[in-house]
Amino acid sequence: MNEKQLGKYFKYDDGNIWLVENDRDNMKLEYRAKKIISSVKSTYQQIDIVELYDFGKCLVLDGAVQSTVLDGYIYNEMISHIPLVTHDKPQDVLIIGGGDCGVANEVLKYENVRKVDFVEIDELVARECIKHIPEIAGTTSKDSRVNFIFADGVKFVEDKKGCYDVILVDSSDPIGPAVQLFSREFYENVKKCLKEGGVMACQSQSPIFNKDILKNTYGILNELYPIVRPYTAVVPSYPGGMWSFTLASLKNDPLKADTSKLKPNTKYINEEIFQSCFKLSNMFKESLK
Ligand code: SAM
Repeated sequence: MNEKQLGKYFKYDDGNIWLVENDRDNMKLEYRAKKIISSVKSTYQQIDIVELYDFGKCLVLDGAVQSTVLDGYIYNEMISHIPLVTHDKPQDVLIIGGGDCGVANEVLKYENVRKVDFVEIDELVARECIKHIPEIAGTTSKDSRVNFIFADGVKFVEDKKGCYDVILVDSSDPIGPAVQLFSREFYENVKKCLKEGGVMACQSQSPIFNKDILKNTYGILNELYPIVRPYTAVVPSYPGGMWSFTLASLKNDPLKADTSKLKPNTKYINEEIFQSCFKLSNMFKESLK
């Protein structure tokens, strides 16, 4: 591939290919790439699968790194195991977004789970990740409990009532089709989709750079649910490293969860992490106000 053939999110520098993530006006992150494995444009976004130095293979959507082999499991385990263990007996799970299939792969570790409705707007993201990054997608495509639904998650939750024990919103940044995944109306519909005692969790962006989104997400969920617990993990490939998640529950408090129910075949989460991830810094608490 020569310089002219490189897509808009890549550049050549001194004989090397660099992926340039234009995170915000004042910050660009550059990753040295070994090779660009595939590049396709869907109706919704530019999808690149790239092998990076240090981070390994990764999914890049519109120039933004979504999930890397080096650290994607941290995010995937944190957004899934915490709500699954908080729930008494999760059987029916809905995932919205999550095209790299990493979150679904974690959910499937729980034998109680009998059905996973996986609602991803962009079929090509799932296809590309299943084909090129099995380290992240795992066994998702081969597990008969997974029901792939290629549709807009915002519309999907509009007319459902009381069908899921756990709902995970694994969205991309609030840009394009993901904007509405951060709206009040969407979260109200998600709540209606939960069964009694249901639990939902979403990624609520960087507590350093996206305080407004974190505050807004927490504020909305706090009005809708009796129990809302934000938590954090460090994911080096996300801008700023520290990332936030927000869990909202109709009955069970994750602070009182039986953490021995955690599946042992994880790389990051364990009982200590489960208990400590809800401890928030003063800065974080301040940004929730
Ligand atoms: N964990 C990673 C992160 O936070 O960067 C990966 C998130 S996953 C790749 C996000 C997925 O959400 C994308 O595949 C995107 O196509 C999907 N998505 C965006 N808007 C959506 C919508 N309205 N309904 C369903 N899926 C949507």
